Amino acid sequence: MARPIDFAGLALGAPVADAHAHLDMLDDPAQALAHAALAGVQLVATAVDLSEDTRTIVESEAWRVEAASWLRAHGFEDRAAPEVRIVAGVHPHNAKDAATVEQNLADLASSGLVAAIGECGLDYHYEHSPRAVQRTAFERHLSIAHEAGLPAIVHLREAHDEGYEVLSRIGVPAAGCVVHCFTEDAQTAQRFLELGCFVSFGGVTTFKKADAVRSAAAAVPLDRLLTETDCPFLAPEPFRGATNEPALVTQVVRAVAAAHGVDPSVAASAAFENARRLFCGGARS
Ligand SMILES: [Zn+2]
Repeated sequence: MARPIDFAGLALGAPVADAHAHLDMLDDPAQALAHAALAGVQLVATAVDLSEDTRTIVESEAWRVEAASWLRAHGFEDRAAPEVRIVAGVHPHNAKDAATVEQNLADLASSGLVAAIGECGLDYHYEHSPRAVQRTAFERHLSIAHEAGLPAIVHLREAHDEGYEVLSRIGVPAAGCVVHCFTEDAQTAQRFLELGCFVSFGGVTTFKKADAVRSAAAAVPLDRLLTETDCPFLAPEPFRGATNEPALVTQVVRAVAAAHGVDPSVAASAAFENARRLFCGGARS
């Protein structure tokens, strides 16, 4: 039996953002938001795949309310549940279904209900959708982000050259662009920085063998860096193997801060401010 996690003990003395979560995939999203509040997480951007997630857009506000009442009931009335921002799109795995929900995505993009478009991109590792179909869906997502004035959240796996080519050709949305769950080296990070992208680091950054990823984190200036969990996947050290949740993004912040040689509160504040600008610049902020 794993020991219960001391969530309040994870706090860093500064606000923290989880720039990429999948709250709908957690058993108890409300409980996870309460844990996040204890750990000082004040903003969670959660990805909604419109081809399969039917509940987040409807339920996320109820999860926050439930988290707030849990916090009150446990004597933490001074803690607010984190703000939740919706990232809507179709994951590259499901790109073959993207055309059928494209109108829905375009409507949502102009509704003020979503803060960013994604996650979109190319996954040539699993290739659950044909590459050409992924490419088309990626281009359509970027166009919608451009038209709606929203940032794009990009997933690339074993497809960084082609992802770079698409982003350079279509252009990075003026509202911002994030290469999420970055696990490549510093040189690759540099190319996406030059395009104007933010680079977001997750649990892999804490793994013992991930020196190259930590070098990449060190190469990304703090004003272009984000921290994320990608929960429920990729829990960071020392919780590897557990179900990931937004509170654990604090461990990613620690790893990124160590790579930069700064206090965790400095890295936390910088990444939080970047996330706040990206995800809270729209109609709902
Ligand atoms: Zn992803």
